[in-house]
Amino acid sequence: MGTMASIIVYCPPDTAEALLEGAERLVHDLDRRLSVYDDHGLGRLNRLGRASLDDEHLRAVVTASDSLQRITGGAFDPTAGGLVRLWGFPASPALPAREDIDSVLAITGWERMVSLSSDSIALAPGAMVDFGAAAKGYAADLAYAALMERGASAALVEIGGEVRCGSRPGFAKVWTVGIRHPRDGGLLDTVRVEQGALATSGDYECFFIDSAGRRLSHIIDPSSGYPAQGAVSASVLAGSCLVADAVATALVIGGWELADSLPEGLVRAILIVEGDDDGIRVGRSGEWQESPNG
Ligand code: ADP
Ligand code: MG
Repeated sequence: MGTMASIIVYCPPDTAEALLEGAERLVHDLDRRLSVYDDHGLGRLNRLGRASLDDEHLRAVVTASDSLQRITGGAFDPTAGGLVRLWGFPASPALPAREDIDSVLAITGWERMVSLSSDSIALAPGAMVDFGAAAKGYAADLAYAALMERGASAALVEIGGEVRCGSRPGFAKVWTVGIRHPRDGGLLDTVRVEQGALATSGDYECFFIDSAGRRLSHIIDPSSGYPAQGAVSASVLAGSCLVADAVATALVIGGWELADSLPEGLVRAILIVEGDDDGIRVGRSGEWQESPNG
């Protein structure tokens, strides 16, 4: 997934090492299966144009992506992977030629490019998928579940800024998680989470400034082929980190209009930062509307 991870776990001291090692192994294994940078699960799917869904992790991410792309009106769409590559993210981003954007748009669009059956996924010729906007969340969910199953009293798993945390009933740990300010490098907010997942996406980590001074980030709007312009950043609190991760990415494209159209109960709270380099505006909904600090 090309990123950093950290894990905090509350457990008897003699079990800590085994718990952490197990979680680390799991995350590495998921990274191998779900990363476009590898020739395993997803790398193979992109190369061959089809894959069996025998791998439970590939199946879980594909199935969730299928419904999340529908729910987000196509703002979250793993077939945007071709556009991300065209724009040269993350290594060497640059403005592509208009006709190149058009030709990659022609192979973008989950509904048109992906065929799912109960046990396989097939891509239309030329299409590729990239689960970079959901895989970190999925891996955080799984690592968290594994730690709790193996006897942790409380755990927090953070992968590339996406957080899944909680504790055993009765342990009642309340985690305080910071949301970074998208411009000044400090903290925008801190939120208290007993149980759940918090993901943030934005235009401040992987971007370049074009000749017109526009900030262009690695979140690409699959309908236009251009980097998202809907929000500076979006943070989402949800039960599942996969959902929080994918929805946060989608909201950077769709902003509040998309946030307001999400089905009731999909997420628990949303924070969206809008604005430009001259100033930002912060809006909050759901559990964060009344009391952002829990
Ligand atoms: P980060 O936390 O690194 O900002 P995100 O969760 O926002 O990451 O995901 C960004 C990654 O998702 C990009 O690097 C790219 O691989 C992929 N991506 C870009 N645009 C989209 C999109 N519209 N839908 C799904 N995935 C996308
Ligand atoms: Mg995401």
